[in-house]
Amino acid sequence: MSNPSILILPGDGIGPEVMTEVKKVISWFGAKRDIQFDVSEDLVGGAAYDAHGTPLHDDTMARAQEVDAVLLGAVGGPKYDELDFSVKPERGLLRLRKEMDLFSNLRPAQCFDALADFSSLKKDVVAGLDIMIVRELTSGIYFGEPRGIFEEGNERVGINTQRYTESEIDRVARSAFELAMRRGKKLCSMEKANVMESGILWREVVTEVAKDYPEVALSHMYADAGAMQLCRWPKQFDVIVTDNLFGDLLSDAAAMLTGSLGMLPSASLGAPMANGRPKALYEPVHGSAPDIAGQGKANPIACILSFAMALRYSFDLGSEADRVEAAVETALANGARTADLLGEEGATPISTSEMGDVIVAA
Ligand code: ATP
Ligand code: MG
Repeated sequence: MSNPSILILPGDGIGPEVMTEVKKVISWFGAKRDIQFDVSEDLVGGAAYDAHGTPLHDDTMARAQEVDAVLLGAVGGPKYDELDFSVKPERGLLRLRKEMDLFSNLRPAQCFDALADFSSLKKDVVAGLDIMIVRELTSGIYFGEPRGIFEEGNERVGINTQRYTESEIDRVARSAFELAMRRGKKLCSMEKANVMESGILWREVVTEVAKDYPEVALSHMYADAGAMQLCRWPKQFDVIVTDNLFGDLLSDAAAMLTGSLGMLPSASLGAPMANGRPKALYEPVHGSAPDIAGQGKANPIACILSFAMALRYSFDLGSEADRVEAAVETALANGARTADLLGEEGATPISTSEMGDVIVAA
């Protein structure tokens, strides 16, 4: 069997800096665990625009379709603000998501013990938290037609349409049930079936899919009540599945239960390829952070944990993913902190590269 393949797209801003640390982790796996990856690297975003006049070259797109997993840093930055919309750095990422048809966005909210005090919430609420929000990523109100600003009588009206087909709900529900099977076998589906037709259909289809996963305990919650419960006692959840709009809100809210943007990984999964692995793109939740780019201040943990998600979801190396997460926990427990993980008190932060090194050492 050939080695698992990864396409690395560092991108812009702090993207290349945090990706350098991920490459250290990948090398460690080659040297210490004899797990070899077939790694290739290319440009995306502003970096690709500078080189090719497009934020994603066709050859890069083709390569992304072939590999087992794409690992992306971040795209964008003030240098590209004036560019035409069609060649903006963000369009490179959007094209990847669209052409790979990545409909299932996995956003974990996980609290490392060493950071439980750092969260804005009470320690007992967040300590040990480990939940996953699955957000539908390719449909719903962000895409439904009609959409636009129209003239109506003597004023204008802004319209977006929430639209979901059965097959769109079915596929994201299945990915959430599959995930629940690998985790705590507990899934909560969130919609607003009390006031939305798409919510009624969502609940029906999810309930139907549940018949194929009898081991998973399924519950339903209205998304507003879900938001409240997520803040009140998030540990009641394991996997949450929801639509594009609610998922956008709930995953950002859940993310902040845990502390810094610099800690948060994500995965975007599509349909299975011929080898049974899903099309997949992994990236930190944070952006290119132009305010700290090039200064060695960025926290590489979000990107390193994104690689851990690739180990788990693309390569079936769950115990190796555990190893990476445990190393992050150990580094934090030993006091390693980049600037974003420190409050105002005068502690000295370590650099991006030092954080990568202590994680590899751990
Ligand atoms: P985008 O539009 O790409 O989402 P953004 O400006 O909304 O970009 P980020 O680029 O993620 O968001 O930056 C938001 C803030 O968080 C910035 O102050 C940035 O310095 C900080 N930040 C983001 N990522 C990290 C990181 N890995 N380590 C430390 N600080 C970070
Ligand atoms: Mg942003």
